[in-house]
Amino acid sequence: MAEKDLLEKGAILQRDKETYAIAPHIPGGIVSADMLKKIADVAEKYDAQALKVTSSQRIAIVGLNEEDLDDVWSELEMQPGAAIGVCVRSVKFCPGTTFCKRGQQDSVALGLKLDEKYHGMELPGKMKMGVAGCMNSCSEPAVKDIGIMGTSKGYTLMLGGSAGLKPRIANTVATELSEEEVIQYVDRIIEFYKSQTSKKRLGQVIDNMGIEKFKEEVGL
Ligand code: SF4
Repeated sequence: MAEKDLLEKGAILQRDKETYAIAPHIPGGIVSADMLKKIADVAEKYDAQALKVTSSQRIAIVGLNEEDLDDVWSELEMQPGAAIGVCVRSVKFCPGTTFCKRGQQDSVALGLKLDEKYHGMELPGKMKMGVAGCMNSCSEPAVKDIGIMGTSKGYTLMLGGSAGLKPRIANTVATELSEEEVIQYVDRIIEFYKSQTSKKRLGQVIDNMGIEKFKEEVGL
């Protein structure tokens, strides 16, 4: 009986303690029909128990045997999503002005840039990002470590949100930002967070320092 996740294969041990789930990286959950067919074909070929759409906008292939994992990845020709480990786990973004009629900012363009730069980056603690194209907040920026919400006047930047055992609503630290300003601010926040020696998530770091001191340190 298997006992643990196989980090190097991006495989998470399932409840049966025998089979694994993998989740290819699909930025923003935007997937072509060909890619979707390939995922389905590979799942069928290797007798997966299920395909599961995840909260991180991935499609997990669930119930694979350990001996098939290398072949599955090689046939998929996709990279694993950073579903585990202390790193930037996910950058969740909504359709924004690319597809959504309510969109006020281009959350897809910004989300893709952040994903390309930060997805999987190792950090002291786990980090999630969310980008929404309007105040409806479909990608839940208020409960992400770094949340970015579009308004008619630009982006609002929110920090330190999380769900889980001790939910925390993010602090709003800046409003009416351009895409470029958001990226500059996120760079600074990540650099500051990298210098932390504990595994505390961003919200705990903010609570320990106080939001004003945090803003001063990061230059917000
Ligand atoms: S947050 Fe706004 S722009 Fe994004 S999907 Fe929801 S309604 Fe559309």
